[in-house]
Amino acid sequence: MEVVTASAQIFARVFGQMRPRTALPSIDVEFRTYANANAQIRLEDGRLIVRMADTLAGAPEPVIEALAEILLSKLFRRPVPAASSARYRRYLNRSDIRRSLDLVRQIRGRKRIDDAQGDAYDLNQMFEDLNFRYFHGLMARPTLGWSPNASRTLLGHYDPPHNAIVLSRILDRPDVPRVAVEYVLFHEMLHVRHQAEHIGARRCVHTRAFKEAEKQFERLKEAKALLRKL
Ligand SMILES: [Zn+2]
Repeated sequence: MEVVTASAQIFARVFGQMRPRTALPSIDVEFRTYANANAQIRLEDGRLIVRMADTLAGAPEPVIEALAEILLSKLFRRPVPAASSARYRRYLNRSDIRRSLDLVRQIRGRKRIDDAQGDAYDLNQMFEDLNFRYFHGLMARPTLGWSPNASRTLLGHYDPPHNAIVLSRILDRPDVPRVAVEYVLFHEMLHVRHQAEHIGARRCVHTRAFKEAEKQFERLKEAKALLRKL
């Protein structure tokens, strides 16, 4: 079912539980591009208007339900059920969601991601070069950019919802050899190509196929050694 319709039904259900004797208003749900996981609700001319960050569009149903309970409790000036706020907080704290929110903040927040053309390296040009060498030039170019912060722990990240690859600014320096930057970009390009697999409840991003493909990189050992020395 379409995520907007599914979400509207969840809000309708929760509304009915909280206000069983009130006629159900028409519910207008929209996912918007916010720089965070914001959500708002208001009643206007008998319409219940719900605005949620599009980063929540992929959230599981129980999470949307918890959010509906939180927002409607606030609207009706009731205490928010502890279980709902705990469930919603747990979801936002999941490491993959946090990462994705960090990236969204980088892209849409005040600073945005910086241009693909860095001080030392041009990511668009590097992408096309790697695309030609390893992907027969067939990979559609995602949004590429340098992170505003020079992170040492997160050198690169691919964000599927936004189809964006961001590389840490720390790599955009003339004293970082090109092959090291190429390897990080190549690795993220493999994430574009290889979907994560779910093994039981675990999400595996570096699948066997991914690791096999990574071995194609011509100077893999050298690049990895260079990155360790950063
Ligand atoms: Zn990876």
